[in-house]
Amino acid sequence: MEDRQTFRGACFCGAVKLTVTGEPAAQGYCHCRSCRSWSAGPINGFTLWAPDAIRIEKGAENLVTYKQTERSVRTWCKACGGHLFTEHPHWKLTDVYAATIPEFPFKPGVHVNYQETVMRIHDGLPKLKDLPTEMGGTGEAIPE
Ligand SMILES: [Zn+2]
Ligand SMILES: [Zn+2]
Repeated sequence: MEDRQTFRGACFCGAVKLTVTGEPAAQGYCHCRSCRSWSAGPINGFTLWAPDAIRIEKGAENLVTYKQTERSVRTWCKACGGHLFTEHPHWKLTDVYAATIPEFPFKPGVHVNYQETVMRIHDGLPKLKDLPTEMGGTGEAIPE
Protein backbone atom coordinates (compact mmCIF):
# COMPACT_ATOMS: atom_id res chain seq x y z
CA MET A 1 0.00 0.00 0.00
CA GLU A 2 1.27 3.39 -0.94
CA ASP A 3 1.40 5.92 1.83
CA ARG A 4 -0.15 8.89 0.10
CA GLN A 5 -1.11 11.70 2.40
CA THR A 6 -4.15 13.87 1.78
CA PHE A 7 -4.28 17.56 2.64
CA ARG A 8 -7.39 19.70 2.90
CA GLY A 9 -7.94 23.13 1.45
CA ALA A 10 -10.73 25.62 0.97
CA CYS A 11 -11.68 28.91 -0.58
CA PHE A 12 -11.81 32.11 1.48
CA CYS A 13 -15.41 31.51 2.69
CA GLY A 14 -15.27 27.73 2.94
CA ALA A 15 -18.09 27.07 0.42
CA VAL A 16 -15.59 25.18 -1.73
CA LYS A 17 -13.53 22.47 -0.08
CA LEU A 18 -10.90 20.41 -1.84
CA THR A 19 -8.13 17.94 -1.13
CA VAL A 20 -4.77 17.19 -2.71
CA THR A 21 -3.20 13.77 -2.34
CA GLY A 22 0.39 12.63 -2.66
CA GLU A 23 3.29 14.81 -3.70
CA PRO A 24 3.23 17.82 -6.03
CA ALA A 25 5.37 17.75 -9.18
CA ALA A 26 6.96 21.05 -8.15
CA GLN A 27 6.54 23.84 -5.64
CA GLY A 28 7.95 27.32 -5.39
CA TYR A 29 7.25 30.99 -5.92
CA CYS A 30 6.25 32.75 -9.12
CA HIS A 31 7.06 36.43 -9.60
CA CYS A 32 5.38 36.93 -12.99
CA ARG A 33 3.12 39.86 -13.71
CA SER A 34 0.12 37.58 -14.33
CA CYS A 35 0.43 35.92 -10.93
CA ARG A 36 0.83 39.30 -9.26
CA SER A 37 -2.18 40.75 -11.00
CA TRP A 38 -4.37 37.71 -10.38
CA SER A 39 -3.32 37.15 -6.75
CA ALA A 40 -3.16 40.87 -5.93
CA GLY A 41 0.12 40.09 -4.15
CA PRO A 42 3.80 40.54 -4.97
CA ILE A 43 4.53 36.78 -5.29
CA ASN A 44 2.46 33.62 -5.74
CA GLY A 45 3.31 30.44 -3.83
CA PHE A 46 2.53 27.58 -6.20
CA THR A 47 2.23 23.81 -5.88
CA LEU A 48 1.81 21.91 -9.16
CA TRP A 49 -0.20 18.67 -9.11
CA ALA A 50 -1.39 16.08 -11.57
CA PRO A 51 -5.08 16.92 -12.05
CA ASP A 52 -6.18 13.56 -10.62
CA ALA A 53 -4.44 14.39 -7.31
CA ILE A 54 -7.05 17.10 -6.70
CA ARG A 55 -10.59 16.42 -5.55
CA ILE A 56 -13.36 18.95 -5.08
CA GLU A 57 -15.04 17.68 -1.92
CA LYS A 58 -17.74 20.32 -1.60
CA GLY A 59 -19.19 23.31 -3.41
CA ALA A 60 -18.19 22.48 -7.00
CA GLU A 61 -21.23 24.49 -8.12
CA ASN A 62 -19.47 27.61 -6.82
CA LEU A 63 -16.44 27.20 -9.08
CA VAL A 64 -16.05 29.71 -11.86
CA THR A 65 -13.16 30.11 -14.26
CA TYR A 66 -11.46 32.73 -16.35
CA LYS A 67 -9.18 32.00 -19.29
CA GLN A 68 -7.01 34.86 -20.45
CA THR A 69 -5.17 32.25 -22.51
CA GLU A 70 -5.77 28.55 -23.16
CA ARG A 71 -2.69 27.83 -21.04
CA SER A 72 -4.19 28.98 -17.74
CA VAL A 73 -7.69 28.25 -16.50
CA ARG A 74 -7.99 30.36 -13.35
CA THR A 75 -10.57 29.12 -10.89
CA TRP A 76 -12.21 30.82 -7.94
CA CYS A 77 -15.28 30.64 -5.71
CA LYS A 78 -18.20 32.77 -6.85
CA ALA A 79 -19.55 33.06 -3.31
CA CYS A 80 -16.48 34.82 -1.89
CA GLY A 81 -14.21 35.57 -4.86
CA GLY A 82 -11.42 33.58 -3.21
CA HIS A 83 -8.94 32.10 -5.66
CA LEU A 84 -8.33 28.35 -5.55
CA PHE A 85 -6.19 27.05 -8.40
CA THR A 86 -5.12 27.43 -12.02
CA GLU A 87 -5.22 24.56 -14.48
CA HIS A 88 -2.37 24.46 -16.99
CA PRO A 89 -3.70 21.98 -19.60
CA HIS A 90 -0.58 22.10 -21.80
CA TRP A 91 1.56 20.95 -18.85
CA LYS A 92 -1.14 18.55 -17.57
CA LEU A 93 -0.62 20.17 -14.17
CA THR A 94 -2.78 22.24 -11.86
CA ASP A 95 -1.37 24.96 -9.62
CA VAL A 96 -3.11 24.83 -6.27
CA TYR A 97 -1.92 28.04 -4.60
CA ALA A 98 0.00 27.25 -1.44
CA ALA A 99 -2.34 29.60 0.46
CA THR A 100 -5.33 27.45 -0.61
CA ILE A 101 -3.99 24.35 1.17
CA PRO A 102 -2.69 25.50 4.57
CA GLU A 103 -2.38 21.88 5.79
CA PHE A 104 0.14 21.06 3.09
CA PRO A 105 3.75 21.47 4.30
CA PHE A 106 4.81 23.92 1.60
CA LYS A 107 8.50 23.50 0.78
CA PRO A 108 9.34 25.92 -2.02
CA GLY A 109 12.31 24.77 -4.10
CA VAL A 110 12.65 27.51 -6.68
CA HIS A 111 11.66 31.02 -7.67
CA VAL A 112 10.42 31.35 -11.27
CA ASN A 113 9.97 34.36 -13.55
CA TYR A 114 12.35 36.25 -11.27
CA GLN A 115 13.23 38.68 -14.06
CA GLU A 116 9.77 40.19 -13.44
CA THR A 117 10.13 40.47 -9.68
CA VAL A 118 8.97 43.47 -7.68
CA MET A 119 10.12 41.93 -4.40
CA ARG A 120 13.57 40.42 -4.16
CA ILE A 121 13.87 37.47 -1.76
CA HIS A 122 17.17 36.46 -0.16
CA ASP A 123 16.48 32.88 0.82
CA GLY A 124 19.27 31.13 -1.07
CA LEU A 125 16.87 29.23 -3.36
CA PRO A 126 17.55 29.21 -7.12
CA LYS A 127 16.11 32.21 -8.96
CA LEU A 128 15.15 31.36 -12.53
CA LYS A 129 14.93 34.16 -15.05
CA ASP A 130 11.77 32.57 -16.51
CA LEU A 131 10.83 28.88 -16.29
CA PRO A 132 12.68 25.55 -16.12
CA THR A 133 13.57 24.11 -19.53
CA GLU A 134 11.08 21.23 -19.09
CA MET A 135 8.34 23.84 -18.79
CA GLY A 136 9.39 25.75 -21.88
CA GLY A 137 11.72 28.30 -20.27
CA THR A 138 15.44 28.94 -20.54
CA GLY A 139 16.22 27.39 -17.16
CA GLU A 140 18.66 30.25 -16.66
CA ALA A 141 19.44 31.26 -13.08
CA ILE A 142 19.89 34.95 -12.25
CA PRO A 143 21.21 36.70 -9.11
CA GLU A 144 18.98 37.17 -6.09
ZN1 LIG B 1 -15.74 30.86 -1.18
ZN1 LIG C 1 3.34 33.42 -12.47
